[in-house]
Amino acid sequence: MTASLGLNDEVETLPDRLNAIRGVLRKEYRKRHSYPWLVAYSGGKDSTLLLQLVWEAVAGVQPKERKRRVLVVGNDTLVESPLVIRHLKKSLSVIGSAAEDEGLPIETEITQPCIDQTFWVSVIGRGYIPPTRNFRWCTDRMKILPTNRLLERITHDTKKTVLLIGSRRAESQNRRRTMDRRKVSSKSMNPHGKVKGCRMFSPLADLSDNDVWITLMQRKPPWGGTHRELITLYRNAGGGECPLVLTKEQAPSCGSSSPRFGCWTCTVVQKDRSLRGLIDSGHPEAERMEALFEFREWLLELRENDSNRQSVRRDGNAKQRSDGSRVYGPFKIEIRKQILEKLLKLQHQLDEQLILPAEIECIEDVWWRDEICEDARQSLDRNIPATTSSKWAEPVT
Ligand code: SF4
Repeated sequence: MTASLGLNDEVETLPDRLNAIRGVLRKEYRKRHSYPWLVAYSGGKDSTLLLQLVWEAVAGVQPKERKRRVLVVGNDTLVESPLVIRHLKKSLSVIGSAAEDEGLPIETEITQPCIDQTFWVSVIGRGYIPPTRNFRWCTDRMKILPTNRLLERITHDTKKTVLLIGSRRAESQNRRRTMDRRKVSSKSMNPHGKVKGCRMFSPLADLSDNDVWITLMQRKPPWGGTHRELITLYRNAGGGECPLVLTKEQAPSCGSSSPRFGCWTCTVVQKDRSLRGLIDSGHPEAERMEALFEFREWLLELRENDSNRQSVRRDGNAKQRSDGSRVYGPFKIEIRKQILEKLLKLQHQLDEQLILPAEIECIEDVWWRDEICEDARQSLDRNIPATTSSKWAEPVT
C-alpha cells in the first residue's frame, strides 16, 4: 500500500526533475505533524544528492514551519574502507555544524553494529568464515540491524517516522526489479518491511546515473565546500558504493562484483576492485591500501583451505551435503588466533584503528567459552577428564 504525495506532472529536463523532487519533499515536510525524517546517508553519490535536495527543501520553507526534525544517519560497520569512513565522518561533522549555524533542524548520527556482532568478533571470535555469496552473514549484523535499531527507537518515541533513501532504479537490474515489485515511486511512500510506523520514501527513484553526476558536478553542497573529494574517491575507486542497506534485497551492490565502496575486509567479491582501483590510481595512501588489500587476500586463502576449519559446526553437529561432501565448521581456534595476531601487527604498522579493544575483550570471552565446550566434547568422546586452558583468557594487547 503506498501513500501518494500527489505530484503527477511528467517532467523532461534535469532542472525540472530536480525541482519536482524538491517540490514533493517540501510538500511532505510541511504536513501538519511532527513525524521526523531520517535520511540514510552513506557519503556516496546518491545519498549525497538526496541530502542536498532535502536540505534545499527544508531551507526553502519558512523558519516557523520547520517543525520536523531531520536526522541524517550514516552507518559504520567498523571495517569500512579507511578513506570512505573518513569521508563519511568528516562530511557528517560539516553537515551538523552547518545546519546548526543556519538554524536548520538537521542533526547527524552514526550507527554501528553491536560489539558482539562485528566482523572481527564473528570471524576471530566465533570463527565464522569470511562471508561468501551464499553465507553472507555480515549485511544483517553490520548494516541492517544497526539502522533498524535506531529506526525502532525513534519510531517508538514519535509513533511515526519517514525514512528517505537514495535508491534509484538505474543503479542495477536487481534494484530496478525490487523497486518495481514494491511499486516504489518518487512521489509516494511505502511501509518499511520491519519497523512498524516507519514509511520509506525514495525521491530519486527515477533519476539516471548521469542526472546524479551532473548535479553533483554542477552544484556545490549547501552545507559548504565542494563535492570534489567525493568525485575523486569514485574516480579513483572506479565505481559505485555499498549503500546504507536496509534489507538484503536492497543491497545488490553490497558485496557484489561491481566496483563499490564497502568493507575493506569484504570477501564476498573475489577481487576488491574499489581498493585495487585506489591503489592503481597512485593514491597518496596506496601503500597503506595495499597492506589492507593483502590482508583481505590472506583471509580469502584461509577461507578456501578446509584444513583451517573444525570438522563440526558451532552447535556440535557434523553436517553433510546431499552429495555426501562435508560441510566444515568454523575456523579452528589456532587460526582465529593467527588472524588476531596478524591484524594487530597490521594495526600497529599502519597506526590506524582496525579492531577496537572492546572487540578483543569480546573475542577472548567467546574463545574462553569455546574452549570449555571443546574440552567437554573431547571428554565425552574420549572419556578423558575435561581441562580448561586459561591461556586464551589472557588479555591480548
Ligand atoms: S561490503 Fe561485503 S563484508 Fe561489508 S557488509 Fe557488504 S557484503 Fe558484507
